[in-house]
Amino acid sequence: MDGSELIDGMSSWWSAIHGYNHPVINAALTQQIQTMSHVMFGGLTHQPAVDLAMQLVAITPAPLTTVFFSDSGSVAVEVAMKMAIQYWYAQGQPSKSKMLTIRHGYHGDTFGAMSVSDPVNGMHGLFTHGLVSQFFADAPQCGFDETCSEQDTESVEALLKRHHLQIAAFILEPIVQGAGGMRFYSPSYLSAVRALCDRYDVLLIFDEIATGFGRTGKLFALEHGTVTPDILCLGKALTGGYLTLAATLVHQKVATIISEGDPGVFMHGPTFMANPLACCAGLASLQLLLDSPWQQRIKRIAAGLAVGLAPCRKLPQVKDVRVLGAIGVVEMHEPITMTTLQPLFVENGVWLRPFNRLVYLMPPYIISEADLETLTDAVVTVLSA
Ligand SMILES: *Cc1c(COP(=O)(O)O)cnc(C)c1O
Repeated sequence: MDGSELIDGMSSWWSAIHGYNHPVINAALTQQIQTMSHVMFGGLTHQPAVDLAMQLVAITPAPLTTVFFSDSGSVAVEVAMKMAIQYWYAQGQPSKSKMLTIRHGYHGDTFGAMSVSDPVNGMHGLFTHGLVSQFFADAPQCGFDETCSEQDTESVEALLKRHHLQIAAFILEPIVQGAGGMRFYSPSYLSAVRALCDRYDVLLIFDEIATGFGRTGKLFALEHGTVTPDILCLGKALTGGYLTLAATLVHQKVATIISEGDPGVFMHGPTFMANPLACCAGLASLQLLLDSPWQQRIKRIAAGLAVGLAPCRKLPQVKDVRVLGAIGVVEMHEPITMTTLQPLFVENGVWLRPFNRLVYLMPPYIISEADLETLTDAVVTVLSA
């Protein structure tokens, strides 16, 4: 309101990876508006959706060949869970309809997504009684650079052993658990989980809504390991923060069984599915990203975050400082009060939105050295004070 300028340290909820008001995406959208802004996607198709789907299939693991577009990350998660249930239903196993997940996860704000988000940290405590109850295993304790132990998968294995006839899928965020705690864990955990899912006939869903499109230093976080999920959820940075769009990518075998089984189609059809403007923004954003030196940019941001946040380690109220790709986290011992801290960040020229015990940075990939320093300096100054 007063005209002052802030550096956005969280890329508009992790989506505006190219910064704001990008001329290339602006131009693409202006052209698309003049061609077509919307058409129903039930029985009709259009070029931007086809092109974007093909791009997404090209840059994700080979077995993921089918794409379902929806309006937001939460809906992409609902879609993934419904696909898993319908996959087992089509094979005469309707009782396989529950989800398994790990604690500290966050998968969105709609009812199905809430049911698999952390019951304590997932911000949904008050809705607990209205949710389907799902199976929660302990989150892995192994850090990103460590190898996971048998202890890390113990509770997953115990739950699968007892309940696999009721479980359709295991859903989790690979490598980085975002809004549920900003935790980083080992790629080896994903290999162990994949093997368990195969052994107990349970589909594996990766939610890369936060981690997709370069954020962790790989185009997708799953590339830190060797595992391909059966279903993959994408959102947030998909359109560079311009329009709301998400995608659920599916393994060929899952798509085929759903299509060939009863009732013969996947039972979900959002009104604005594959909106042409959103798909056009997605295509332009993806092209911008792939044509840019994004790996170097993320490496440079990672280095800047590590150096800039290092002084926080000496503060007695700080428990941990960690960086992975373009994600910097300062974890405190005690919960912080956002209403107290946020105005202090604004006074220091930055926009951040800490939660619980976490102050975190997820800057846009185009951030300058100077702006990144402003961000980390503000964190050090405010937390020291
Ligand atoms: C943000 C987020 C969602 C929900 O996406 P919305 O677009 O806010 O509905 C789901 N999963 C993860 C991992 C997220 O970070």
